Amino acid sequence: MTEAHKGSCHCGAVAYEVDMSLDGLIECNCSHCCRKGFVLGFVQPHAFRLTADGPQTEYLFHNHSIRHRFCETCGVQTFARGTTPDGSEMVAVNVRTLTDVEPFSWTATRVDGRSF
Ligand SMILES: [Zn+2]
Repeated sequence: MTEAHKGSCHCGAVAYEVDMSLDGLIECNCSHCCRKGFVLGFVQPHAFRLTADGPQTEYLFHNHSIRHRFCETCGVQTFARGTTPDGSEMVAVNVRTLTDVEPFSWTATRVDGRSF
């Protein structure tokens, strides 16, 4: 079920609202997701609104198709913008940065990104 949620980095310089479902979340073991401990949900760009757009650094790796952005002050990555294999824009939300959801109330499917 799609619902409105709010989230932010730790210091609050970056904050957002997102319309998303907590069904279909993933947890991935690739070198990047694993280090950051992500639990991710994916939405179309119109469903994601930045409400505080503080200084962020962009991190790119592999084929640079996903623009990982993290807060310059506290280091927390709230989201990334990228392109799906079919070419449509998407936002990957770090569900761990939602502020109105009880951690561990979600179920995430484990994805073997390390093998890709
Ligand atoms: Zn921050």
